[in-house]
Order: sequence, then structure tokens, then C-alpha cells
Amino acid sequence: MCQNCPQPQGFLAELIDNGLLIDTGVDGLYGRSGLFEEVVAQFDLLITRYGGKDGAEVARFPPAMSRHSFEKSGYLKSFPQLAGTVHSFDGDERAHAELLHNVAEGHDWTGGQKSTDVVLTPAACYVLYPVVAKRGPLKPDGALFDLQSYCFRHEPSKDPARMQLFRMREYVRFGTPEQVTEFRALWLDRGQEMMASLGVPLHVDVANDPFFGRAGRMLANNQRDQRLKFELLIPIESEEKPTACLSFNYHQDHFGTTWGIETSAGETAHTACVGFGMERVALALFKHHGYDVARWPAAVRNVLWP
Ligand code: AMP
Ligand code: ZN
Repeated sequence: MCQNCPQPQGFLAELIDNGLLIDTGVDGLYGRSGLFEEVVAQFDLLITRYGGKDGAEVARFPPAMSRHSFEKSGYLKSFPQLAGTVHSFDGDERAHAELLHNVAEGHDWTGGQKSTDVVLTPAACYVLYPVVAKRGPLKPDGALFDLQSYCFRHEPSKDPARMQLFRMREYVRFGTPEQVTEFRALWLDRGQEMMASLGVPLHVDVANDPFFGRAGRMLANNQRDQRLKFELLIPIESEEKPTACLSFNYHQDHFGTTWGIETSAGETAHTACVGFGMERVALALFKHHGYDVARWPAAVRNVLWP
């Protein structure tokens, strides 16, 4: 163990001491215990019990996407600070010797790394838009997808609910403005009902994404004014600043325009998604019901293990 590194404190330390999270030495990068994973898996099934009858097409992608698609998505305009890109060694033997020398000397060795065609997925739905665009115009009833992916965001933190690699389950709806706003309204209700059944304190509030820079502040204000993003918040690390565990996003025609996705009537498609933070929900359950799952309230156990 690193003697000079500050030891984890508070909820994070408790999670590590109780074996639920496994420290890797990097803030926001943890192993998960079998029990933690079981809670995540049961919550995953609970989501399916609520959303599975809607006929969503299930798709699972690895936690990375095409760099070309990522560049085109506009993510770097809005969130350059969060992006994670995959680079790899691409040199000759001399360059290799230099790399090893730099590692041994504790110098920066990453300069010789070249970007690959792969970047880390920042949100489960980013992979999907170019895929749907390629299929051509939507059917009259639009499209609905069920996704889950590990996502990367460069936001190292001591708050265990702010991870750098975490799983996001999503339902993503494509269609007319009416179709997608109806989908979001449905999930705003369902999400609250579902989370209330888990016996955790919660409330829903209008929210904004952490857009970068001064222009970003305008985007964030606009997002709030137009009520494009809602979050279902549960106190985890702090009572005063509850944590967003579910998000309900209406993108208007942003992705439809970016990717040229059309409705069956030839209009630009609108999109919306509901995102479930799998680790955050598990953390909320351990926070509010304790580390001994056998002693969780019977009502909550019955919902998770029906
Ligand atoms: P967002 O795209 O920011 O709305 O994220 C969708 C969901 O992913 C959120 O509602 C959170 O539950 C979860 N999430 C976002 N960022 C993180 C993070 N750094 N660590 C863990 N979960 C996260
Ligand atoms: Zn999404």
C-alpha cells in the first residue's frame, strides 16, 4: 500500500473496509465484490421488469467506440475535460528503447503514443446514434433501444459515487417530438415508482450537464430553462448535495441533426434517453440499508429478489 497516499475516508473507506469496493490506488477506479455485483445484477433485472415489455431492441457494446464517430458526435465541444482516448505505441526499436528509458527514469513516456481508432464510451447511448443513422429512416413508431455499457469520464474523486469507470443502463427513444417526450414522461413516473420501491429517499429535479467553459455556461442555462434534463437524486455522499442516480434527457433534434437520422415522414428525428447509474443505485442501497443485505427491509429484498 502507498505510504504517502492519503487513506480513503468516510463512506469510501467503509465500502472498502466492508469489501464491497476494492481499492486500485486510483480515485474513481474500483473493483467490485461479488455481493456488490449481485445487487447491480438484481437492479438490472428490476429495470427490465419495468421497461422490458416496451419492445426495446437490446444491444450491448464494449466500453469503447469509434474515434471518428466520437469526433463527429460533438462530445469534445461540450465535455473535453471528461473524454478518455485510447493511445498505443507505434514506434520502432529505437523508440521502444527510449520509451523504456523514460519509464525507468520516471519521465513522461507517453509522448510517443499514437491515437488509435478507439475512444472510451462516455455515455452508453453515444455508440448508438451512428448505428441507427446507418439503418435509414425510422419506422412510423420510431425506435427504442435497451443499452448497458461501462462508461468512462475523467473526473477522479474521493466520492465513491463519482467513478471514472461505471455502468450505465439506458433506454433510448427515437421518433417525433411527441413520441420521445411521451417516452421521457413515462420514465419520469416509472423511475420514481421503481426507486421508491427500493426504500431510498429521493426527489426529482431539473438539471444540467457539466458543459465546458464560458459557452458551456450558456448551454447549461439553456438546458435548464428548457427543462431538457431531469435527475432523480438520492443522498449518498452528502445530505446537502444528493447524487444523480437516474437521468432523463431530451436531446431535441441534436443527435438527429448531427447524424442525419430521419423519421418515416422525412423530418429530423428527435431523441431522448433515460440513464440508470448502476453503481450509484447500489451505493444508495448500501448507504441507506446497511452493509448486511440479509438485514435490508423485507419489502426492499422482495423487490430485488422476487
Ligand atoms: P449523465 O449522462 O451524466 O446524465 O449520466 C447518466 C447516469 O450515469 C447518471 O444519472 C448517474 O447515475 C450515472 N453517472 C454519471 N456520472 C457518473 C460517475 N462519475 N460515476 C458513477 N455514475 C455516474
Ligand atoms: Zn443517453
